[in-house]
Amino acid sequence: MNTFFIKTFGCRVNQVESQAILEQFKRAGFVPATDFEHADICVLNTCTVTHQADKDVEKLIRLILTGCYAAAHSAHIREVFPSAQIVGKYELGRVLFNEEDICWTVSGHEGHSRAFIKIQDGCDNFCSYCIVPYARNVKRSKPMADVLDEIKQLVQNGFLEVVLTGINIGNYVCPQTGVDLAALCEQIAALDGNFRIRFSSIELPTVSDGIIHQMHKHPARFCNYFHLPLQAGCDKILRDMNRHYSTQEYARRVADLRAHIPQIGIFADVIAGYPTETEQDFQATYQFIKSQRLAGLHVFSYSPRPGTPAAKLPQLTHVEIKRRADKLRELDKELRAAFAACLVGTEQVVFVEEKKGSALHGITSNFQTVLLPQNCRARGLVRVKIVRAQNQLCYGEIL
Ligand code: SF4
Repeated sequence: MNTFFIKTFGCRVNQVESQAILEQFKRAGFVPATDFEHADICVLNTCTVTHQADKDVEKLIRLILTGCYAAAHSAHIREVFPSAQIVGKYELGRVLFNEEDICWTVSGHEGHSRAFIKIQDGCDNFCSYCIVPYARNVKRSKPMADVLDEIKQLVQNGFLEVVLTGINIGNYVCPQTGVDLAALCEQIAALDGNFRIRFSSIELPTVSDGIIHQMHKHPARFCNYFHLPLQAGCDKILRDMNRHYSTQEYARRVADLRAHIPQIGIFADVIAGYPTETEQDFQATYQFIKSQRLAGLHVFSYSPRPGTPAAKLPQLTHVEIKRRADKLRELDKELRAAFAACLVGTEQVVFVEEKKGSALHGITSNFQTVLLPQNCRARGLVRVKIVRAQNQLCYGEIL
C-alpha cells in the first residue's frame, strides 16, 4: 500500500490545507506514514512568513514542495535543491492524483478538537513588509454552498467550534453568487446545531457593518472575538507599511465593536522594529495599543523578506528590534492580565477541550483560557462562572 507524509509549516491556512490534502490522500487509498522517512510521498506545505520559516523548510526538503516558500523562492530552490519538485497549491491535484484540483474541504482536524476551514485564499494588498502576495496574490473564495456543507459535516462529526480561515477572509466573495462574508454569516447563523463560529485574523478595512450586525444578532453562533491586525499604532508607519487605515479608523472600529458586541476580545498583530520606525514612532505605537485596551498582542520582530520593498530600506539593528519586541511582549502580558481580570464575576460559555495538568482547560467565546476544577466532568460547550483571575488565566465554576 502506498504511504504518504505531510509536514506543515506556518499558519492556520496551511494547517487546514494540509488536512484537506491528507483527506484526499486517504480517499485515494494512501495510508499515512508515521514520518517522512517511511513514506512513499512526502509533501512539505511550506511557509515563508519569516526568515526562520525559510530555514525550517530548507532543513527538510525532500520531494514535493508546495506552499508559499516554494512559490516565492522557486529559482533559489531549483539552484540549491535541484531534485526537489515544486508544485503550486492548485496544481497538486493534477500532479498527485491526476485530478483537476485538490478538494479543499475537510471533515475533521487530526489531533485537534476545534476545526478550521479555509474559505478564502490570496491577498493582493502588498503591505510593504509582506511576502505573501508574491506567493498567493490570486484571490479565490470557496463557494458558499460548499462552506455550508463543510460546516454541517464538521458539526455532524462532533466539532463544536469551527474557525473560518483564509489569507484575507474579509475579501470573501462567493464565486457562484457574488455574496460577501456578511451574507455567508447570515446563512451560517441559520444552520441547525449547537456549535459556534470563530473568525481567524481579519483585516480592519474588511470588517463591515454587515458582519458586526450578524455577530450582534447571533451571539451564540459567532464568537465575540476578533483578531484585528494592527501592525503599527503610528500613522506614519502605517503609511510606510502600505496599510490601508489610520490609527483613528482603527480606534473607531474598535469602539464600534465594543458598542455592539458585549465583552468582545480584540487581539492584534504588531510588528516591532519596522525599518523606518523611530523611537518616537515606537512610543506612539506603544501608547496607542495601551489606549485601545486590547485583549492581547501577537508581537512579531521585523525581519526583512527579500523581494519586498521594506527589505530594501536601511534596517534597524537586531538589538534594537529585540528591545522593542520585548517591550511590546511585556505590554501583551499586562493586557492579557487585565482582560482576564475584567471577566471575573461574568458568565461565559467555555469550550472545554483538553486536560492540562491538574485542571480542566477551556476557552471562552472571547478567547480567554479558563481552568476548571479537575473533578468536573463537563466537556464541550458549558456555562461557567468566572470566579478569579491570575497570571493571565481565569478560573471558573460550572453553572
Ligand atoms: S494584508 Fe498585508 S500582511 Fe496580510 S497577507 Fe495581505 S499583504 Fe500580507
